[in-house]
Amino acid sequence: MHIPALTPPQGFDRRSFLKMTGGLAAAFAAGGTSFGKPSERNRVLRVAHITDIHVQPERRAPEGLASCLKHIQSLQDKPDLILSGGDHVMDSVRQTRDRTKTQWDIWTNVLKAENSIPVKSCIGNHDIWGWEKDKSGATGNEPDFGKKWAIDALGLPNRYYSFTQAGWHFITLDGVQPAGPVGDGSHSAYLDEEQLDWFKRDLASVPKTTPILIWSHVPIVSALPITNPRPTLTGNIYIEEGHVHSDAGVIVNELAQYPNVKACLSGHLHQVEQIEIKGINFHCNGAVCGGWWKGKNRGFDEGFALVDLYDDGSYECRYETYGWVAEPPK
Ligand SMILES: [Zn+2]
Repeated sequence: MHIPALTPPQGFDRRSFLKMTGGLAAAFAAGGTSFGKPSERNRVLRVAHITDIHVQPERRAPEGLASCLKHIQSLQDKPDLILSGGDHVMDSVRQTRDRTKTQWDIWTNVLKAENSIPVKSCIGNHDIWGWEKDKSGATGNEPDFGKKWAIDALGLPNRYYSFTQAGWHFITLDGVQPAGPVGDGSHSAYLDEEQLDWFKRDLASVPKTTPILIWSHVPIVSALPITNPRPTLTGNIYIEEGHVHSDAGVIVNELAQYPNVKACLSGHLHQVEQIEIKGINFHCNGAVCGGWWKGKNRGFDEGFALVDLYDDGSYECRYETYGWVAEPPK
């Protein structure tokens, strides 16, 4: 088959035409969010999205976190910002105060020793202290009960918040909610009324020319749960509560009103995925701990995502491993 060479249209010299088509190819490869003048775009921010670290004293998890941070900082093209996607510690929902403190101390100390890049965080289900009262010994009246401990340990301004940096607007969501009465340890994923109201107002307040990146712990949208066969799978597809946002339809319809919403990043499922709906890309970006520090999870390596943001509202997101070799199971 004869493939014709690319010929520049009238008015373009060959060099700038090839540069432009290369830029278009890159934009398509990235899930193409902008076709303005791709050859002239400038990168304004490089982000490392790390998620699902599940720090604990066992399984060399502290060394694993240190190794990931060292890898990120030794990149020749070093990120300007780390977005930490939740589940910093392991199971604090059902751990005692002492055990929870040990884990948060590891997180804080490893970051202090190994990281010099600014970090912004969101809350994962494992970061919530005491919701399973039987096992944690919490009463619910402690001042650091629930999400408060994580908010303090991570230095968050609130359980959900937004900020603008390098011409991009970032929205951090807190989708983890109790599924039943607080105390039984169950969790679901949706935006509570107060947060949804704030989210709508925040989206509306952003200039239409400012690109928006949203990140949450639990994916707003994901097809991954339907690829995981479960014993309960029947003719009806069964998705376990809390694996994806139960209000995905509400959120997607809201986001679709804003062409400047470019990407939604998440973790929680320890797998890697990209879905596009109505021009919005949903990236589930694996896990730093892979399969909870026991090796790969369902074939997905321990890793993080590098996200390059450009001044024309386009971006690129790719998953990278950091070469971690898990401790062999005992
Ligand atoms: Zn999680």
